[in-house]
Amino acid sequence: MTEILKVGVLSIQGDIEENIISCKAALVESGVAGEVVKVKDYNEILEVDGLIIPGGESTVISTMMSLNQSNWKLLNQRIHEGLPVLATCAGMILLANRVQGKTTGETKQKLLKNLDITVERNAFGRQHESFETDLNIPMIGEKPFKAVFIRGPVVKETGNDVQVIAKYNNKIVAVQQNNIVGTSFHPELTEDNRIHTYFIKSILKNKGKLK
Ligand code: GLN
Repeated sequence: MTEILKVGVLSIQGDIEENIISCKAALVESGVAGEVVKVKDYNEILEVDGLIIPGGESTVISTMMSLNQSNWKLLNQRIHEGLPVLATCAGMILLANRVQGKTTGETKQKLLKNLDITVERNAFGRQHESFETDLNIPMIGEKPFKAVFIRGPVVKETGNDVQVIAKYNNKIVAVQQNNIVGTSFHPELTEDNRIHTYFIKSILKNKGKLK
């Protein structure tokens, strides 16, 4: 029987539609039958096979999300138990163990802490300092990936289980820790769907493992 994947996009704030589009394209490119759904509530968190936590504004996503403690706890628990997650920019900040401001030290925002990294928010400057650059990401192939940075964070420290998957100017901008991939940039803002395709493959692998 053909497997139908259910891929969720956490739909509180940020690049929700863009991720839905990239994820649908990645399903088609991978030849995988599946649907992409918006995720906000308990049952939706419970039902998905993988989850994208989009870029946007991490303080808003974390404040809104933590208003409902059972949703927050379930999300944290499912990721802890191995739910495949692609977290971009604000999404990666939300998952980090520790978050610092550039000049303000550790921030007070509530974090899921599933990802053993320390990040610095807005490490490349403000909105008008947004930029695009070609990154080398061997995990998705030899061809460079056009990465869009918009007030992106930098990963300052990584725990033992964390693998660095991309650097820009010697700064860590993409990591993987088991079931979690985190990027400082926005893969949903380019036509190149290889990061979303990688994510779909990791969901498939995870499902296979469970059966
Ligand atoms: N600077 C934002 C934050 O700290 C993240 C920016 C983004 O997701 N593009 O949440």
